[in-house]
Amino acid sequence: MPKLTTTFATLVLAGLSAIVLGNAALAQNKPTIGIAMPTKSSARWIDDGNNMVKTLQGRGYGTDLQYAEDDIPNQLSQVENMVTKGVKALVIAAIDGTTLSDVLKQAKAAGITVIAYDRLIRDTPNVDYYATFDNFQVGVLQAQSIEQGLGLKDGKGPFNIELFGGSPDDNNAYFFYNGAMSVLKPYIDSHKLNVVSGQMGMDKVATLRWDGATAQARMDNLLSAYYGNKRVDAVLSPYDGLSIGIISSLKGVGYGSADQPMPIISGQDAEVPSIKAMLRGEQYSTIFKDTRDLAKVAADMVDAALAGKQVTVNDSKTYNNGVKVVPSYLLKPVVVYKSNWEKVLIDSGYYKRSQFE
Ligand code: BGC
Repeated sequence: MPKLTTTFATLVLAGLSAIVLGNAALAQNKPTIGIAMPTKSSARWIDDGNNMVKTLQGRGYGTDLQYAEDDIPNQLSQVENMVTKGVKALVIAAIDGTTLSDVLKQAKAAGITVIAYDRLIRDTPNVDYYATFDNFQVGVLQAQSIEQGLGLKDGKGPFNIELFGGSPDDNNAYFFYNGAMSVLKPYIDSHKLNVVSGQMGMDKVATLRWDGATAQARMDNLLSAYYGNKRVDAVLSPYDGLSIGIISSLKGVGYGSADQPMPIISGQDAEVPSIKAMLRGEQYSTIFKDTRDLAKVAADMVDAALAGKQVTVNDSKTYNNGVKVVPSYLLKPVVVYKSNWEKVLIDSGYYKRSQFE
């Protein structure tokens, strides 16, 4: 009997190790996926890259993750290399959504699945799916936070506001701006909000490459040209990195004191420096987009597409890239204030409390 048990145990063990070995072999058999990210200068993209690698590797894929430091030719050659090396899928967060047409033609010819990650890739038929957040809603939430911060719904005002847009080569920037304007425009029309500089529209307010220093310089100019004897009460900022530049500019002329409090300033990405600025009362709000969820959506797309299964999408009408409507999966953005940041960012495990101590 003991002998039998031993034999049985041996068999079970042998079976188990076969399964384990089988999985390892299987893991090795899964192809490599190319992941092209725009820059390490913003923490969100570092999180995106890490989460993509973790999720794909956890499912047995190999990964080739590259960052292009916001240099378009650099990203282009990184993607070219991935195609040459024979990746089976590309997950790309483009720097300029319009510059990848040639390399994606090669990718398509090689049978590679192409997923636009967070930012739409434009002007090409060779993008298969788009994993992102509801970008119009991001803008709506940013503007609603300004509406709330100023008390516009309670009839307060009139207030002075300045508007900032994202990078003009990033399709998202237009969605953020249009979403925000869907909330702000009625107040501007009724003169409850006054854009003192008169600078409105993406052609006037865009910030190339989402660069914080560019936003800071523009805010410096706005303050000196238009606010000599006026107060700016709110600033629409589409991204935390811009908000930090705008806050520096405002501090430079004395905002941020009891007599001259900071304007209501929005943001996006819930980056650590901006949460800290919120805790100091300098930035009013930000938008959290859980990159863990986005990585999972993109990995699900890779899995399904490579297995020849139906890819799950929840939007097939919004994202026309100039050539076709790209089937998309939109996640929900969440607005973050001083009042809910712990619940949204700490309780969810996205950040550790020690990062804010
Ligand atoms: C992303 C934003 C980000 C911005 C700047 C956009 O494409 O959707 O989350 O703030 O790029 O990096």
